[in-house]
Amino acid sequence: MSKTIIGLSTDELRALVEQAGEPAYRGNQLAEWIYRREAHTFEEMTNLPLGLRSQLAREYEIGRSRILSVQHGRDTTTKLLLAMSDGARVETVGLPYAGHFSCCVSTQVGCPVGCIFCATGMSGYTRNLTAGEIVEQVLTVQETVRSRQLPAGSHTDRIDHVTFMGMGEPLLNQAATMKAIQLLKNELGIAMRHLTLSTVGFVPGILKLAGEKTQITLAISLHAPNDRLRRKLIPRAIKFSVTEILDACREFVRQTGRRVTLEYCLLNGINDGSREAHELAGVVDGLNCHVNLIPYNAASGLTLHSPPREQIRTFRSILESAGIPVTQRLQRGAGIDAACGQLRNRTI
Ligand code: SAH
Ligand code: SF4
Repeated sequence: MSKTIIGLSTDELRALVEQAGEPAYRGNQLAEWIYRREAHTFEEMTNLPLGLRSQLAREYEIGRSRILSVQHGRDTTTKLLLAMSDGARVETVGLPYAGHFSCCVSTQVGCPVGCIFCATGMSGYTRNLTAGEIVEQVLTVQETVRSRQLPAGSHTDRIDHVTFMGMGEPLLNQAATMKAIQLLKNELGIAMRHLTLSTVGFVPGILKLAGEKTQITLAISLHAPNDRLRRKLIPRAIKFSVTEILDACREFVRQTGRRVTLEYCLLNGINDGSREAHELAGVVDGLNCHVNLIPYNAASGLTLHSPPREQIRTFRSILESAGIPVTQRLQRGAGIDAACGQLRNRTI
């Protein structure tokens, strides 16, 4: 892979142009073109000297991906399949709402964890994405959605919320993920509190976020109240117990003052019983959290099912009776391969 410009901070760009014999402020102009004006070529950066533009073009590529396919949901959701410079394929989703514009990014090509209900997990693991490749997805979604005709009132100018919930486990690619968080904050101006990182529970990574007092929203994919059941759903790569994960969450809350989200993918007959609901209420007792119930989104080739509505209601009311705040994820992306990895699997 040749060197790419996306992924460098303004300070790094200032140093880069200085090395090329230009004044440092040219680095700020470069950042403006890449992150705010969404440039695809050095040629279009007309306020930079021609010599600098040609020199940059010889040594670097901007680092924009290629759009392989675009799926529009029946709602405003837009899902993209992107090819990175080496041909690796990742998915990213744009979700324009009335009040804000959200993007769901991938952090790895595939995922080594292999959760049994996840299309990404089933497709294996290729490599980590770079910070630039993570941030690039936001720029591409922004441009694509902006050019789409949407109902009046939809927010489509600039993405102002990012969730690290696409393909891959962000805390198994923590250096690039942390750099992407800094770039989204400093270069794209997205508030830290509007960044949500979802992890399957890699404890050292959670403790690092806690230690650095990272003001992001932390979501933990718990899916089970005990290790026996959790091991069935999450077979590889993550060896931490439910107790260790929840202790790390307590530390995160203590250090950052932020409530954590516990995600629970409901699978019919597997983890959706009243017994599991009571057990879950017990293990999260005293943790400043809310539980987000996600009815399983069918991936082709799997024999898993989402529970009947009544079962979801019962599960929810057991948690609520125990005083635990519960939300239920809306089924966005109706009509498209909405859950992570599904579009790519179908295309491969
Ligand atoms: N690897 C991270 C982030 C990516 S997955 C993690 O696991 O948290 C983002 C979320 O989508 C996770 O909560 C995951 O459990 C959920 N998910 C994956 N496949 C799903 C499916 N088929 N139906 C419902 N939720 C799914
Ligand atoms: Fe990886 Fe998350 Fe999918 Fe599990 S749910 S396989 S951790 S992307």
